[in-house]
Amino acid sequence: MQTLREVLDQAQQRGVAIGHFNISDLVLLKAVAAAAQELGVPVLVGASQGERDFMGVRQIAALVRSLREESGVPIFLNADHTHSLAKAEEAARAGFDSIVFDLSALPWDENVRQTREAVIALKSISPSILIEGEIGDIGTGSEIHETTIDLSKGLTTPEEAKQFVEATDIDILAPAAGNMHGMSRSMVRGEARKHLDIKRIADIKAATQVPLTLHGGSGTDDEDFRKAIAAGINIVHINTELRVAWRQSLEASLAKNPDEVVPYKILPSVIEAVKEVAISRLRLFNSVGLVVQA
Ligand SMILES: [Zn+2]
Repeated sequence: MQTLREVLDQAQQRGVAIGHFNISDLVLLKAVAAAAQELGVPVLVGASQGERDFMGVRQIAALVRSLREESGVPIFLNADHTHSLAKAEEAARAGFDSIVFDLSALPWDENVRQTREAVIALKSISPSILIEGEIGDIGTGSEIHETTIDLSKGLTTPEEAKQFVEATDIDILAPAAGNMHGMSRSMVRGEARKHLDIKRIADIKAATQVPLTLHGGSGTDDEDFRKAIAAGINIVHINTELRVAWRQSLEASLAKNPDEVVPYKILPSVIEAVKEVAISRLRLFNSVGLVVQA
């Protein structure tokens, strides 16, 4: 089985990106794994601190490991938005393939110092683990926001990105380039899309030469995704879109079967709905190289 590092290198060479989908229950995990299996592409399963607290750090790791072994699909596991070294070490010990060590809310010097320390500590637990660092402001929750938030003041500059990568020795960088966690109501209705600062992404890539992750991808314009991946994005995070599909299809399934109490009769349509969203995003992220060459 390939390592996440190898899969990332291949994605960079081919001009495609790895889809990253957060999960907080078995329905979402089954949907994401089935989508990757159907398309035969690698995928990253993400679990933030809140999602890990709910499912159990070691339980998620065991589930993903068993899916990977059984399907042969390169399914990797990422500890998303981890805000303390203790929580990061817990994930590293449980066997996660990568960790997003996110101290972007702290002052610059503290973010640099603690991220550097975390890289050393986590690689001593698991030498092959990849550490992603974060700078800039991309908002917080992967949920539905009443209004669009102005994050223009927190955009990452190429100079900051280069300085941060060199000072911390992280493997992957998550910049702020017009992306944002969560979706506005108008985005959920399909009336508005997020737009990305493509030139900024290209400049950050040129300055750092490391794999780049785009957080907060839900609701982003498809053409912007293609351009962002061509400009150097290697991992794209989608969470809210899956959560919306999960909730809407669950409500529909319950309404359609008001007297049903058997979970495995209520939930398959939810898995199917979430899987369709994941497939549509994986198709887009993995077709970029072909589009650029055409
Ligand atoms: Zn994120």
